[in-house]
Amino acid sequence: MSEEKIIPYKIYLEESEMPRQWYNMRADMKNKPAPLLNKDTLKPITFEELQPVFCDELIKQELDEDTAYFDIPQEILDFYKMYRPAPLVRAYCLEKALGTPAKIYYKFEGNNTSGSHKLNSAIAQAYYAKNQGLKGVTTETGAGQWGTALSMASSYLGLDCNVYMVKCSYEQKPFRREVMRTYGASVTPSPSTTTEVGKRILEAHPGTTGSLGCAISEAIEAAGNKEGYRYVLGSVLNQVMLHQSIIGLETKAAMDKYGIDPDIIIGCAGGGSNLGGLIAPFMREKLLGNKDYRFIAVEPASCPTLTRGKYAYDYCDTGMVCPLSKMYTLGSGFIPSSSHAGGLRYHGMNSTLSQLYADGYMEATSVEQTSVFEAAQRFARVEGILPAPESSHAIKVAIDEALKCKETGEEKTILFGLTGTGYFDMFAYQRFNDGEMSDYIPTDEEIAAGLAGLPKIDL
Ligand SMILES: *Cc1c(COP(=O)(O)O)cnc(C)c1O
Repeated sequence: MSEEKIIPYKIYLEESEMPRQWYNMRADMKNKPAPLLNKDTLKPITFEELQPVFCDELIKQELDEDTAYFDIPQEILDFYKMYRPAPLVRAYCLEKALGTPAKIYYKFEGNNTSGSHKLNSAIAQAYYAKNQGLKGVTTETGAGQWGTALSMASSYLGLDCNVYMVKCSYEQKPFRREVMRTYGASVTPSPSTTTEVGKRILEAHPGTTGSLGCAISEAIEAAGNKEGYRYVLGSVLNQVMLHQSIIGLETKAAMDKYGIDPDIIIGCAGGGSNLGGLIAPFMREKLLGNKDYRFIAVEPASCPTLTRGKYAYDYCDTGMVCPLSKMYTLGSGFIPSSSHAGGLRYHGMNSTLSQLYADGYMEATSVEQTSVFEAAQRFARVEGILPAPESSHAIKVAIDEALKCKETGEEKTILFGLTGTGYFDMFAYQRFNDGEMSDYIPTDEEIAAGLAGLPKIDL
C-alpha cells in the first residue's frame, strides 16, 4: 500500500465494508459529559423517570457512557440500504475554482427524499418505538427536515407520527409540510392552542413565529397525553449523535480505503448531531492520543451557541418540561431573529460536544448568513448540488480554510459534512438572490437577556 491511489470523484463503500455498529464517543472520553438532571430534584435523571417520555431502548442508549459500540439492528441496516452508503466526494471542481492546493472532501447526506442526514436517526428511533409495541411518536420540527425524515421512517414501519412544526417554517415551507402529510404524518404549527404549554407561550409572546424549543415542549406534552405514544427528538440528545455516527464511520472507512487522512474536519452545528456523527471516529483517534485533527463547529452568527453562549445547566426546551442538560446555551428563552433563514436555530448544544469544546478538543466559529449563501451559490455552481442553508455554513468555512491554503501553499486535506439539499429552502435563496437578506447579529444585551433566564442551580 505504498503507491498513492487515484482518488475517484465519488468514493463509495461495498456492502461488505459498511459499518454494522454505531460508535459512542462518550466511552472514550476521560471527562464525561455531565449527566441529565431531573428538573425538580436536580439529581441525575433515571431510566424510570425518562420512561414516560422516551422509548426504553433509546433511554438506555442516552444514559450509556461506557459502551463504545452498539450493534445496528438488521432492520435498520436494511433501511439504510435504500440510501446508504452516502457518497464521499472529492470536490475537484471546487478546488479548481478556488485555485487551492488543498484537497477538499465532503460527505453528502442529502441523497434521500427527506434531503438530510436526519433519516439516519429517524429510522433508528422509529424502529425502537415500534419494537416496544408503541402506536406512535410525536416530535418537533424546525426547518422541516427532521419531521420529513421521521414521517418517512414512521410510515415505513407503520407508526403514527404527529409533528409540531415551528410556525415560521410551517408558513414558509408549505411543501415540506406536504411531504410529511404525503408520508402520513399530521402537522401542527407551533406554538399552537392544542397544548397547555403552547397556550402559555402564545400568551407570553403573542404573534411569535415560534422556535424549536417551543415545539419540543408541545410535542412532549402531546406524547404524554396519548396512550402508547412517546416523544422523539431529531438532534441534541446523545442517542441521536450515536445514530449519526454512521456518517463518520462510513467516511473514515472510505478514507482509510484510499489512505486519505484529513487535517481539518468541519461541520455545521445546530444541536450537534451531524457534526458529532461526522467527527466521532476521528475524535476517537484524538481522544486515544493516536492522531490529531482540527475539528471546527460552524454556527450562525444569529444563534451563536458555542461562540457566545455559556456552559451551564439549562432546559432543552422553552417550556422547561425537559430534563436539564449541561451544555453551551444561549438560554432556553432565546429566540433567534426571524430574519434568520438558515436553520440551526437551536439555543443549546449536545452535551458531549459541549464537553469536548470546553476541554479544547474542538474549535467553533460563527458566520453571517449572507456569506453563507454566497458560499452556497459558489458551491452549487461548481459542484452541482444545491446545498441546504445549514450545510452551507460548513461550506463557507471549508472554502475559507482552502483559501488560506492558497495563501500559504499548504496542501491540507479538508473534510466537511454536506448535510443536505436546499430544494425546500428556495424562499431563503430568493431573498438572497433579490439582495434582501440581512445579517442580524444579536447584541450583547440580547445575549445577556437570554442567559439571565438560565435556571439558578448550585451544584
Ligand atoms: C437539522 C439539520 C442540521 C443541524 O442539525 P444538527 O443536529 O446540528 O446536525 C444541519 N443540516 C441539515 C441539512 C439539517 O437538516
